[in-house]
Amino acid sequence: MTAYGLLIDYEYCTGCQSCEITCKEEHDYPVGKWGIRVLDDGPWEIEPKRFNWNKIPVPTDLCDLCTDRTSTGREPMCVHHCLANVITYGKVEDLAKKLPEKGKQVLFVPQFKPYEAKGPFVHDPSKGLRKAAHLEVQENTAAERMAAHRGDARVEEY
Ligand code: SF4
Ligand code: SF4
Repeated sequence: MTAYGLLIDYEYCTGCQSCEITCKEEHDYPVGKWGIRVLDDGPWEIEPKRFNWNKIPVPTDLCDLCTDRTSTGREPMCVHHCLANVITYGKVEDLAKKLPEKGKQVLFVPQFKPYEAKGPFVHDPSKGLRKAAHLEVQENTAAERMAAHRGDARVEEY
């Protein structure tokens, strides 16, 4: 089983919260439930005139890595709509290799097993989409729990 995750370069996160909103819209989460939250740490003074102030996007326990999208070769919504392009979706082993390249990055591996969308995401100009080069769809055993959280009947689709 290949694990997938999100690599987030929070150095350049603007705190715009577009990821929060698009995730919520995509999953139809009700008021008070989120798939990702942008945490705000600061400002607090490290030393005179030097401050710590980071916006850190953190996927919650409701993040399913957008299985409905990745199972058809599309990127997760937060990746697609991040205005600063700081979120990368992919295999954990590939994302981990990027960690040493710079500081202020975090790698998240959500608890849900996603459908697998393999290969790099390539741009399809005819449709204006970025799609995975190759798909390998498998059962997502977390679907029932996700549907229960959403309070809808989407579990019947799986
Ligand atoms: S991958 Fe999908 S479910 Fe997870 S935080 Fe991003 S938009 Fe939400
Ligand atoms: S959409 Fe991107 S830049 Fe905006 S808060 Fe989320 S991670 Fe940060």
